Amino acid sequence: MSRHQITRLRHDTRRRTLTVTAIEQLGDHMRRMVFTAPELNDFVSASADDHIKLFFATDAGDTVMRDFTPRRFDTAQCTLTIDFALHDSGPATQWAAAAQVGDSLSIGGPRGSAVVPDDFDWYLLIGDESALPAIGRRVEELREGVPVITLGVIDGPDDEQRFATRALWTGHWVHRAGVVADDAERLLGALQGMALPPGEGFVWIAAETTVAKALRAHVVETLGHPREWTKAAGYWTRGHADASDKSLDG
Ligand SMILES: Cc1cc2nc3c(=O)[nH]c(=O)nc-3n(C[C@H](O)[C@H](O)[C@H](O)COP(=O)(O)OP(=O)(O)OC[C@H]3O[C@@H](n4cnc5c(N)ncnc54)[C@H](O)[C@@H]3O)c2cc1C
Repeated sequence: MSRHQITRLRHDTRRRTLTVTAIEQLGDHMRRMVFTAPELNDFVSASADDHIKLFFATDAGDTVMRDFTPRRFDTAQCTLTIDFALHDSGPATQWAAAAQVGDSLSIGGPRGSAVVPDDFDWYLLIGDESALPAIGRRVEELREGVPVITLGVIDGPDDEQRFATRALWTGHWVHRAGVVADDAERLLGALQGMALPPGEGFVWIAAETTVAKALRAHVVETLGHPREWTKAAGYWTRGHADASDKSLDG
């Protein structure tokens, strides 16, 4: 079998209702929540950048859905961890900011996984807070000794995360320091000063949609990194609710 083949899997989906069992604040802008439910015993998530749907009830009596990453799960213990980036408004962030141990949340999925093989010579993972769960999970899951470079944009030093891994992880962080615009400029600036390892690498990007597009253009067009070894997604769109663009690769 040839190297670097992405495998697409479909999963049976079902809705599960979970209960919050633990909450941890990760820096000033992220809340980690551990959930439990007996029906997590057959939860499947084959790729670090899988997503599940979270269901939230609105004041108007509707239900809305938002996409989140299964940050970590344990089918034996029936637990699932989700990291919520806290931002200004929206049903998901509002729910996460107010949630308490004992609260419940319904989820669906993942419906499928695109499994990136652990056979590249190196990995470069770039993103903002919404991407940190997928970035952290991939860093933790990669094989021993493989170079993985992460570039994260966050508000300040308190928001930096540490990942326990056997891989050879180098973490770079750029800080907004309270100034919202312009993540693309900050990330591109950091990327320009960075030497990529030799060999065949995989580049993964997820951030606000225009930011992810700018980074993808730089990686593919300016750096000449192979299109098929680059995956970019808009995880949210500034000024629009529930507006992701899961594949900018077309
Ligand atoms: C595949 C995938 C996986 C994802 N995994 C995670 C995850 O694990 N953790 C996580 O926190 N997010 C994750 N996201 C992003 C998350 O789905 C969006 O941020 C979502 O819009 C949040 O919903 P909301 O109800 O809080 O805000 P919405 O109601 O969707 O939006 C309200 C307002 O907030 C703005 N906004 C939305 N998200 C952000 C943000 N991150 N920062 C600043 N402003 C924002 C919008 O532009 C809009 O103006 C993921 C997205 C995708 C596509």
